[in-house]
Amino acid sequence: MRIATPETWYETTRLADGVTLIGEPHIKPFYRCNIWHLRGRDRDLLIDSGMGVVSLRAQVAFLAERPVLAVATHTHFDHVGSHHEFADRAVHAAESGILAAPDRPRTLADKYVAAEIFTALPPGDFSAAAYRVTPAPATRILADGDAIDLGDRRFEVLHVPGHSPGSIALWEAATGILFAGDATYDGPLIDDSDDSNIDDYIASMERLRRLPVRVVHGGHFPSFGPDRHRELIDEYLAGKGRAIAVDRDRLPSSFETRPRGRSSR
Ligand SMILES: [Zn+2]
Ligand SMILES: [Zn+2]
Repeated sequence: MRIATPETWYETTRLADGVTLIGEPHIKPFYRCNIWHLRGRDRDLLIDSGMGVVSLRAQVAFLAERPVLAVATHTHFDHVGSHHEFADRAVHAAESGILAAPDRPRTLADKYVAAEIFTALPPGDFSAAAYRVTPAPATRILADGDAIDLGDRRFEVLHVPGHSPGSIALWEAATGILFAGDATYDGPLIDDSDDSNIDDYIASMERLRRLPVRVVHGGHFPSFGPDRHRELIDEYLAGKGRAIAVDRDRLPSSFETRPRGRSSR
């Protein structure tokens, strides 16, 4: 397989609302984490940090210009590989132990990292079998309801377990922007890992559905708006045999609210 250069490992895309998407184009989309950056008045916010196979700080120059708080939406390998490059690191309490000691099983590197997830291999002497996330103990432990304040922008931490026990989303009420991590994105959702919990996932989805989102930036795949947000959640809940519990008055009259299919456990 072709080997990529460090200079081409990351690509950045400026979006609306002061949001920049940093991607790893040589990783196949399903495994490619969306890394989000926002410039704040007092400090910048980085949401997730990719696989860490090439230095993010060295290759994306604006990350080294100002203080950055690196938040982990959760600690799977594709989201926290470069956290160790940032002095300020935040993660939910339920996964702080993994960020401090990110072994291959708990970061899901054992399960997923193989040459096949790349379209070009990382530079250097990369070995999928030897890949591991570098420890990056958190300097701030997050809980549901916490505020992340950039000076001129403020995000609320929403604990949305299910995909993993410490999954969080970041909600900016002033703009209707939701950074959803792997709780919801426009692609196949993962709720069957060793650290997943489907009952928790259902409860988190019902909570996320009630948010008046304007745009959702997920942990993978392209961003989307409020209609797709509710559609994705409804598809997930329907797949678990759950009738949709909210916005009942907006449903067609033929749609009964009795449980459909098997009930989920
Ligand atoms: Zn994940
Ligand atoms: Zn992911």
